[in-house]
Amino acid sequence: PERSAAGIRRTFLDFFQQEHGHLLVPSAPIRPRGDPSLLFVNAGMNQFKPLLLGTVDPRSDMASYRRVVNSQKCVRAGGKHNDLEDVGRGVAHHTFFEMLGSWSFGDYFKEEACLMAWSLLTEHYGIPADRLYVSYFAGDAASGLRADEETRCIWLDIGVPPTRLLPFGLKENFWEMGETGPCGPCTEIHYDHIGGRDAAVLVNADSPDVVEIWNLVFMQYNREVDHRLRPLPQFSVDTGMGLERLVSVLQGKRSNYDTDLFMPLLHAIHQRSKVGPYGGRTGAADQAKVDMAYRVVADHIRTLAVCMADGVHPGMSGAELVLRRILRRAVRFCVEVLQAPQGALASLVPTVTHILGGVYPELHREEDQIMDMINENEAHFLSSLQQGSRLILRTLDRMDDKHKFFPAAVAWSLHRNLGFPLDLVDLMLEERGTQVDREEMDRLIAENQKVAGVQSGDQVMLDVVSLAELRRLAVPHTDDSLKYEYQLEREQ
Ligand code: ATP
Ligand code: MG
Ligand code: MG
Ligand code: MG
Repeated sequence: PERSAAGIRRTFLDFFQQEHGHLLVPSAPIRPRGDPSLLFVNAGMNQFKPLLLGTVDPRSDMASYRRVVNSQKCVRAGGKHNDLEDVGRGVAHHTFFEMLGSWSFGDYFKEEACLMAWSLLTEHYGIPADRLYVSYFAGDAASGLRADEETRCIWLDIGVPPTRLLPFGLKENFWEMGETGPCGPCTEIHYDHIGGRDAAVLVNADSPDVVEIWNLVFMQYNREVDHRLRPLPQFSVDTGMGLERLVSVLQGKRSNYDTDLFMPLLHAIHQRSKVGPYGGRTGAADQAKVDMAYRVVADHIRTLAVCMADGVHPGMSGAELVLRRILRRAVRFCVEVLQAPQGALASLVPTVTHILGGVYPELHREEDQIMDMINENEAHFLSSLQQGSRLILRTLDRMDDKHKFFPAAVAWSLHRNLGFPLDLVDLMLEERGTQVDREEMDRLIAENQKVAGVQSGDQVMLDVVSLAELRRLAVPHTDDSLKYEYQLEREQ
């Protein structure tokens, strides 16, 4: 069988389209249409939400869909599904990934769905059955939801041994799109990268050795605004498999980054950097940090290119703000860790196009514009960094014995006015043997978070919140910060 990512994607689509009569539907754009509950499309099913809910316009094409297959561009960097913090650290979560999906809208249900999935994985892709584990919904008494015994029996009939068939609760095996929306019990297929052992305890345990590859959701409810579950007018099947993970399995790699979806990018990054190669065995103490930077940049440039090609540009609120954070994060890893010159990030875009442009031709069309936009944003951010650094040095010069700590108001003001990353302030101060007034700083951050209602998950990214956003969120200034803001304005 064809082992390139392109071939693996093709095999999935052909299997459902040609052998099982599914209609091939193109990927929806990454910006959700008419769904304010989402920042980005986060799963293949998003575009079919009206069909699942039974609210579809009967005159639309979609109204006639019964069996559908596609490969969907997804971004999980905000909202209920947010994997941003894992990117770089782990090797199985990306901000942008492709979800291979198949659907039955009121057509077949659990048994056929499980049979098709098992046949595709074990016969067409040739994955040994003894590397696979299957999880199913254990029920949840508090929500009045029963265990999915039906699905357990289906898998037993298919031949999955009881020791590889594992029950899990709401968190793992009851899939929900967001705070509201279609949901239902699911059954998931996991792959053991090592084999020859009983790895049941590693399923759903965040182990890099046993990874979830395919989720089969049995859509039966809608999660309402009041958090109640309302049964749907018809039951549907919604499956989603991460292409990057499937490709790592079929190419015999433990990491998504060691596949043909990422290797050309890692190579291109190396050509632009002054550090050793990805996964280099130079024995350098900071190799782990370098490798993480490679992964972050490779991940983020895909996300940037795909989002911009669909008209989501770095900006000041919502998805645009998330994209701006991703861009700035990528720039920092390029500059601070990989020692790549200005312009390096944008110059990676043609490599993304080379890898993904065949399936997502909008990348070709928008390539020049994407590169220009990345360069502009990068230049702006770098000049803010420079201005900020100068101001920190000047403030340090003026500090004397009276000042035990660096004034928090200055750090905060820099952050607010220039989007200067707070952790970079800490780093600069540490290098000069001092630190920011932590207590005062925490107070300023807490005050602003209270006003903004910022969730804890967003906290790590606060460093790159934009000026406009902070203005919108900010509490009235303390006298001190006013003073420093005034000073900053004069110095510019
Ligand atoms: P995980 O538990 O690994 O975070 P998930 O349960 O959140 O995955 P689902 O919502 O079930 O994922 O999505 C279906 C499939 O999409 C997963 O089985 C996985 O193969 C893939 N997937 C999910 N999140 C990511 C991601 N951030 N990057 C790459 N692939 C992903
Ligand atoms: Mg997840
Ligand atoms: Mg999971
Ligand atoms: Mg899952």
